[in-house]
Amino acid sequence: MAGSSQWPRLTARDRLLHVLGTEGALSRSDLVRRTGLSRSTITTLVAQLLTEQVLVERQDRGTPLNGRGGRPPILLELAEPAGVVLGLDLGHRHIRAGLARLDGTMLAERLLALDVDASPAASLDRVAGLVEALLDESGHDRADVRAVGMGIPGPVDRTGTMTSGILPRWRGTRPGEALTARTGLVARVDNDAHMGARGELAYGAARGRRDVIYVKTSTGIGCGIIIDGKLVGGATGIAGELGHVQVDEHGIICRCGSRGCLETEVSGPKLVELLQPAYDEPLTIPRVIALAEDGDAGANRALGDVGRRIGRVLADMCNLLNPELVVTGGAIGASPAFLAGVRDAIDRHAQPTAAAAVEVAPGALGEDAELRGAISVALEVGAPPAIPR
Ligand SMILES: [Zn+2]
Repeated sequence: MAGSSQWPRLTARDRLLHVLGTEGALSRSDLVRRTGLSRSTITTLVAQLLTEQVLVERQDRGTPLNGRGGRPPILLELAEPAGVVLGLDLGHRHIRAGLARLDGTMLAERLLALDVDASPAASLDRVAGLVEALLDESGHDRADVRAVGMGIPGPVDRTGTMTSGILPRWRGTRPGEALTARTGLVARVDNDAHMGARGELAYGAARGRRDVIYVKTSTGIGCGIIIDGKLVGGATGIAGELGHVQVDEHGIICRCGSRGCLETEVSGPKLVELLQPAYDEPLTIPRVIALAEDGDAGANRALGDVGRRIGRVLADMCNLLNPELVVTGGAIGASPAFLAGVRDAIDRHAQPTAAAAVEVAPGALGEDAELRGAISVALEVGAPPAIPR
């Protein structure tokens, strides 16, 4: 059956790797049968792949020795790619760090509550401490780390410099270099919401989708735009700064230097501030979400309003970019009342055909999206090319 017509576009090498990748360990004779390649081609290719350490040999222990004392066949299998990747997610109020294998499986994860906005140096000291702890815990050392992805809660340009006043104390800093100075590890750095978009694209709600807007609503409002399967960074890393779209020309001054930004009008803390006077208990974002789930009218009303305000800006983005999916992440993103508000505003304000084309769905990774995105970036940088399957 295994003739060359079954493999129209694969090279002999890819064909062999494909068979081993899908069927597991095989002998040289099995490979001849399964790939349709000649015995001499298999012999040459296998020798080359063993030298490159892409393949390893092992004895087939499952085959009993026959009565005449024949040796069990030697099997060939793909070598386990060595090493790990590291993902770091710095939010406004936390640091998350995770270590993953080269197939993306998480090995260890740590979370630390910290006011990241206050001091770049202190935050990066803590990051370095977390990295050491993670490596110790998982029995790895720095030499095993193939690549690092790091998310920061502010815009980062292509040179790794923090470009905007959105995170004032970090402006002009180069967090990647600061991490290298502390740990010896080289990181690819990007904005946290961009990492969240990448996380949902690689592992979550946006898997297999091409044109997606990811919106993260927590302490602030972040956004990552994916066009044709690729994240849009923009000239200076600002692309997707939904939270700093002006919604009130006469509004209050924002930390970014503009006034009446969406984020100054609606965000997690604003939501709590709005509701607090009507409640006897001290409110937090998770408490507001829980109240809404229990049917509390005020909490549902306020979450719906937040969804509508953000959805109003998303409606314009739907006209400009015509996405197929809006993924809502962050602490508030999964709230049904919030999602209904977003949907309502898009249906009301976007072009009917753009509104009809777009699905609005909660993120699948929750608060892990940014960390998973950082891992996916590290894997792009540090993992060997995928074997065709
Ligand atoms: Zn602003």
